[in-house]
Amino acid sequence: MTPASPWTTRPAPRRLSTADIAARCATPAFGEVLTEHMVSLRWSAGDGWHAGEVLPHAPIAMDPAMVGLHYGQVVFEGLKAYHQPDGSVAAFRPEDHARRFRRSAARLAMPELPEELFLESLAALVDVDRAWVPAADTRSLYLRPILYATDASLALRPAREYRYLLLALVTENFFGAGSPPVSVWAGTGYSRAARGGTGEAKCAGNYAGGFLAQAEAAEHGCQQVVWLDAAEHRLVEEMGGMNIFFVVDGALVTPPLSGTLLPGVTRESVLTLAARAGLAVREQPVPLADVLAGCADGTITEAFACGTAAVVTPIGRVVTEEGEWRVGDGATGPVTGRLRAHLVDLHLGRAPDPDGWRYRLAGPLG
Ligand SMILES: *Cc1c(COP(=O)(O)O)cnc(C)c1O
Repeated sequence: MTPASPWTTRPAPRRLSTADIAARCATPAFGEVLTEHMVSLRWSAGDGWHAGEVLPHAPIAMDPAMVGLHYGQVVFEGLKAYHQPDGSVAAFRPEDHARRFRRSAARLAMPELPEELFLESLAALVDVDRAWVPAADTRSLYLRPILYATDASLALRPAREYRYLLLALVTENFFGAGSPPVSVWAGTGYSRAARGGTGEAKCAGNYAGGFLAQAEAAEHGCQQVVWLDAAEHRLVEEMGGMNIFFVVDGALVTPPLSGTLLPGVTRESVLTLAARAGLAVREQPVPLADVLAGCADGTITEAFACGTAAVVTPIGRVVTEEGEWRVGDGATGPVTGRLRAHLVDLHLGRAPDPDGWRYRLAGPLG
């Protein structure tokens, strides 16, 4: 598709009123308040990317033999758009999400959606669902692109037809600014990703494999799982939906992109902001034993998780099969607090944006 062939728009026949939208958004539990529309785009070997349209959010028809359903050829993204002080709407680093979406697709032998189409789809959806973009600082519009194989064939090979959908939902910026630190569970019974596997791709199958570990974490009084390397269960990798950082002797430390963890856009943003603020920043392997020792002797003063959904979430306690360790004094530390505030100010258009991370999706209304 070229810019000269815009997305066909088929708006919902009866649009919700502003009051209806406000009522639906009264208490947006994450993942539940979807907007009225979605974007759809198809790919086939013969036609490439085609049939781009904006249509009412509704159930989709699928063949029960669909490859995506049986063999998991499914990748997705997650990014946010924020209301800006001048009334416009800006997405945070959508070009980086577009690039990662392509890399994830390539890893699963799927076609790569050109970045231009990815960005156009975001603007097209925000345009039609403009009334859903929350103006409150505590909320944002979460955008969920997904690409899946639609071929009806049980042959074990990559599909020849795919569909891209873009959904949007209203979300509370959960684990909000004043939220208490979380406890994390580092067990050795399960693994998330092995060398050569799909750990650095945002593919659907990576998440179902973590649900049992998440239940185990809950049994140990923890909100989140810390994944360790699959080979030895010795090195800390990430959180299964967020990347992880430690403040060690005043330096900011995070595991390197080894191929088994997801290269978070928030992770990269935090590294950039911290270095610019004059913090020593190190990407280096983080043995769990060192984390526990550092918590015990006080060299680790803070830990936090970060990702698009929760932004920056302090970690107050680490629990393992051997016992539990408090991080610092268990409260949100100063480095965590400052990085979080800086990121939120960038999202909301309250801080200068020297790196061009804000991407205007729509101008002010009216
Ligand atoms: C999405 C995700 C992250 C965070 O990435 P962001 O780009 O910062 O949102 C971290 N780990 C996993 C496994 C993820 O799926």
